[in-house]
Amino acid sequence: MGRMMDQPLLISSIIRFAARHYGGSEIVSRRVEGDMHRYTVRECEARARRVANVLRAQGIALGERVGTLAWNGYRHLELYYGVSGAGAVLHTINPRLHPEQIAYIVNHADDQLLFFDLTFLPLVAAIAPLCPTVKAFVLMSDRAHMPSDGSMPNLLCYEDLLAAAAEDYEWPELDERAAASLCYTSGTTGNPKGALYSHRSTVLHAYASAMPNALNVAGRDVVLPVVPMFHVNAWGLPYSVLLSGAKLVLPGAALDGKSLYDLFEAEGVTFSAGVPTVWLGLVNYALQNRLTFSTFRRTVIGGAACPPALMDTLIDHFGIEVIHAWGMTEMSPLGTTCGLLARHRDLPVAGQRAVLRKQGHAIFGVDMKIVDDAGNELPWDGLTFGHLLVKGPWIISRYFRDEGGDVLQDGWFPTGDVATIDADGYMQITDRSKDVIKSGGEWIGSIDLENIAMAHPAVLQAACIGVRHPKWDERPVLVVVRRPEAEVTREELLRFFDGKVAKFWMPDDVLFVESLPTGATGKIQKNRLREQFRDYRLPGACQK
Ligand code: ADP
Repeated sequence: MGRMMDQPLLISSIIRFAARHYGGSEIVSRRVEGDMHRYTVRECEARARRVANVLRAQGIALGERVGTLAWNGYRHLELYYGVSGAGAVLHTINPRLHPEQIAYIVNHADDQLLFFDLTFLPLVAAIAPLCPTVKAFVLMSDRAHMPSDGSMPNLLCYEDLLAAAAEDYEWPELDERAAASLCYTSGTTGNPKGALYSHRSTVLHAYASAMPNALNVAGRDVVLPVVPMFHVNAWGLPYSVLLSGAKLVLPGAALDGKSLYDLFEAEGVTFSAGVPTVWLGLVNYALQNRLTFSTFRRTVIGGAACPPALMDTLIDHFGIEVIHAWGMTEMSPLGTTCGLLARHRDLPVAGQRAVLRKQGHAIFGVDMKIVDDAGNELPWDGLTFGHLLVKGPWIISRYFRDEGGDVLQDGWFPTGDVATIDADGYMQITDRSKDVIKSGGEWIGSIDLENIAMAHPAVLQAACIGVRHPKWDERPVLVVVRRPEAEVTREELLRFFDGKVAKFWMPDDVLFVESLPTGATGKIQKNRLREQFRDYRLPGACQK
């Protein structure tokens, strides 16, 4: 046996380490109360210890769930460490879900306490009667912001609780396999299912995601996670930023282009992370106002495919490095990140860009493969696409409460994505399995078609869906939102595809709409689009 110390990998070890070795690193938050708040990691850890004492005083036992409905802010961060560090399970809830769905998951998780930001007071007041397991609701603010009408029973004040709690607290030595946090998938189909992360999976994910080939989080960085702490732990940044000593900037509820831009400039943000729609907002604001970024150098884009046009603007116009990343709630969430290798350095720009558009290499810890419908492994040739399966220590083995039963296939987790992997190991997502368009027995990659459409200057957003066809089963149709005041006809847009895709991939029609339906994580909901256009008939296709 090796002769090394056996220390459990615990979330408390991250904050303890950070407070001891990078105690002076700053955490800056834009509060939902309207002002800015600044303090250090050392102060954050002291308050996280108070949180742990609050839980003890509230009778929260090891493994019990504590819910949060909160934006990215320092109090939420204190709960990240205080709740998990004390051995309870932090259940972050996506406030963009439908209130009934929120009540469903609060009940399903058996949440004992629910901490929430001021913004969500009306929401919490509405769902409180539906949540009998919750013993108390804690408003994450001070006494001055507490509602005075007494309409909500069991309402407590976060700052009062912390002030009354002792700062002395010894982080317990837990089993590293114990549950630490819980996040439900958005549930585009059926009820949401919970991914229950452990201390070990969270710490390993934090190590791996900080590596240069992954997110490359370093002490010299000023990191602003736009990705919400209420969904998949903000891609693990609350952990990886603290363990690397970087400065953390938390944007609260103001995620529009102007608010973000001002915060980036005021705090000297160097690195950020978010879904494509966030960057579209920020980039459009900066372009319209002819602004440049003085410190912002690198961003991770994931959660949905990064449109090439957006990537090009960020790199060519603003000089910002784009790391395309792929993952999912069930993977904590990081699976792959994309970057160039030494041998790509001499490629022409277009060649380099073609590499960067992919979702990239597995991060060490994650293994992946593509298989056909029968489960046979497919070649890594960059052309053959198949179901993407993954395995690794931060990927779920089962859902919380065994929802959905045994989800693994021979020890691999089926991601529900369809992808190619090239000979160099770069993975590229071509579709969600349920969004795949099957035409005459062949798969058509809808993401490719959307990317081409979005490169047209008149197109703001595009989604490609399959519609029924009497001969080919399904044919691709583009649903497009035009840019304000831009003009483009169906014929012009279809001509734009000439020479860019195989003939049978050409969309059969273009439908212009005012907006596309999006879900709780800001992604376009193609199932709703398919529903909307269920009775649509392709021009010229005679129906059976
Ligand atoms: P849900 O939307 O079910 O809550 P997640 O938020 O976990 O799930 O999103 C996971 C899914 O998002 C992936 O399975 C994949 O389909 C999609 N996705 C994430 N990142 C990318 C990316 N870079 N490119 C394309 N699709 C992505």
